[in-house]
Amino acid sequence: MLDQNNTVTFSRQDVQEMDATHHLHPFTNSQALNDKGARVIDKAQGIYVWDQDGNKMLDGMAGLWCVNMGYGRQELVDAATKQMQQLPFYNTFFQTTHLPVAKLAKEIASITPEGLDHIFFANSGSEAIDTILRLVRHHWVLKEQPEKSIIISRENAYHGSTLAGTSLGGMSGMHKQGAPLVPDIERICQPYWYGEAGDMAPDEFGLVCAQALEEKILTLGAHRVAAFIAEPIQGAGGVIVPPASYWPEIQRICQKYDILLAVDEVICGFGRTGGWFGSDTFNIKPDIISMAKGLSSGYLPIAAVAVGKRISQTLLAHDDDFNHGYTYSGHPVAAAVALENIRLMKQENIVQYVKDDIGPYFQKQLRSVLENHPLVGHIEGVGLVAGIALVKNKDSKTFFGDELDVGLICRDHCFENGLIMRAVDSRMVLSPPLVISHEEVDELCEKARHCFNLTLADVRDK
Ligand code: PMP
Repeated sequence: MLDQNNTVTFSRQDVQEMDATHHLHPFTNSQALNDKGARVIDKAQGIYVWDQDGNKMLDGMAGLWCVNMGYGRQELVDAATKQMQQLPFYNTFFQTTHLPVAKLAKEIASITPEGLDHIFFANSGSEAIDTILRLVRHHWVLKEQPEKSIIISRENAYHGSTLAGTSLGGMSGMHKQGAPLVPDIERICQPYWYGEAGDMAPDEFGLVCAQALEEKILTLGAHRVAAFIAEPIQGAGGVIVPPASYWPEIQRICQKYDILLAVDEVICGFGRTGGWFGSDTFNIKPDIISMAKGLSSGYLPIAAVAVGKRISQTLLAHDDDFNHGYTYSGHPVAAAVALENIRLMKQENIVQYVKDDIGPYFQKQLRSVLENHPLVGHIEGVGLVAGIALVKNKDSKTFFGDELDVGLICRDHCFENGLIMRAVDSRMVLSPPLVISHEEVDELCEKARHCFNLTLADVRDK
């Protein structure tokens, strides 16, 4: 089809047909999707996206936890254009560097928790996680303790989808595909108080979950454990916020047994929880962190690992190559966009806005509008991230059985009614752009309530 300018335009059906014929989607049942056709997203501005039929939707997920500064930021477009004209690509392998990557490394080091001063670049959260795995094991080899190779992670954690990320994560559905997994990875329970604590008070449960790490270390032998890895708040697991007692106890245990603490900041980094990093919000002192998503507000793929002194001193004291890297490690255009994104965040004081203003407002409004809803069992969250557990009976805390996917029913109602919310089993997840206004938070909550009503009507007697 041609438009008035004689350029070819594509109808929604054209796009769906090409997509169904040639595109394999991530984390998707392709057969089921192709039967109904993918939703075609066409454009975006601020906190809204439009599909090709012109339906406007409030993006309660900031893309995929990443478009923190919102859509349509001309400054980011300009930064990319300028850098593409100056130097679209050069590698950082051949003892070479360039201004954007050097500047970005310095900038990241200035905002990460204390001591995390050396930055390794990657292109995705998963690659950053692979980097962490290789770096922590390499660290102990250089320290002449090669038997310290086991990494402990948690059930229901998400650390990406490469083989290392899948192996470190705790998603059983992923473990079944592409096995065998990377060896020497062990897991402990997740600190999911609402779903798994029974009668225990939050802090008591937080301690029990943290002490599971100590038990695991003692069972394996501390001399075999390299690191513990965890997200400050589990994101893709359904937004699970650990009780206040959890992180201090984890920190104590890692110190006591000389275990490196790796914190996956791919979702929590760049203001999501009201600090630059989740580690700031929860007062964690990590040895190494991963970051991605919010680093460039998702405008270009870029990720990084910030390495603390313990590991960087080992690495720098060693007169040999670290045999690891990616063609696009520190890509100049992605680095320029990330730099501009951080500059904008600072200029607009966005971290403070999440901490003192919009974060508390979002958490308060979610509870006042949704907590009394018959489907809502529990709401948890910090800053601009939240998980809402949908239950069959809120008094007895009874969840829906596997035969009824209440989350997907609710997600579909949301899409149909102008709100993008993610479903993780029966938990509805929100992570809107950090630039969301008070009025937009109100709109989000009202839309969610309406969609919960529609969902309730569907599931009431099931
Ligand atoms: N770690 C965490 C905590 C994540 O949430 C994600 C992605 N959602 C990843 C790692 C993997 O990032 P990517 O999809 O960019 O590889």
